[in-house]
Amino acid sequence: GGPPGVSRAGPHVLASSGVTVSTLDWGTTYRVTVLDLGLACCGVEVMAALEGDRPHDLAALGVDVAHAAGEAHVLVVSGTVTDVMLPAVIATYQEMPEPRYVLSVGACSNTGGPYWDSYSVTKGIDQVLPVHVAVPGCPPRPEALLDGLAALHRLVS
Ligand code: SF4
Repeated sequence: GGPPGVSRAGPHVLASSGVTVSTLDWGTTYRVTVLDLGLACCGVEVMAALEGDRPHDLAALGVDVAHAAGEAHVLVVSGTVTDVMLPAVIATYQEMPEPRYVLSVGACSNTGGPYWDSYSVTKGIDQVLPVHVAVPGCPPRPEALLDGLAALHRLVS
């Protein structure tokens, strides 16, 4: 029952990255930078993970927080993506340098979530962006984002 995409299961790896550690030596020669595109309630949970009081968790994953698209390798889309907002999400992705990855966090960005039957909400950003890892939940806890980043790390390792 319930709308799709709201399970509490772990992160789902959706796409092959096509990039290996030989080209993205994550955690060895440099760290990846993560840009939080928080659009609704899920964004608060992502903020808690990226800006919270456990920076050692991020350090262990080799993750830094980006403050502009031009310095980000990982785009975290969290929250409800409306059709009006979608062009800005795509433009942000297109500003990022290669290699670039997308984490979709939460039911809304995964499938539309509770707004799956709304006329104005995009029903999954994987329709327009190559989502590598999708984190389920409404909202996922901050730890779930870290699980998602770990899944992405395994994907490119
Ligand atoms: Fe808010 Fe739930 Fe949508 Fe996340 S998935 S943005 S918590 S309604």
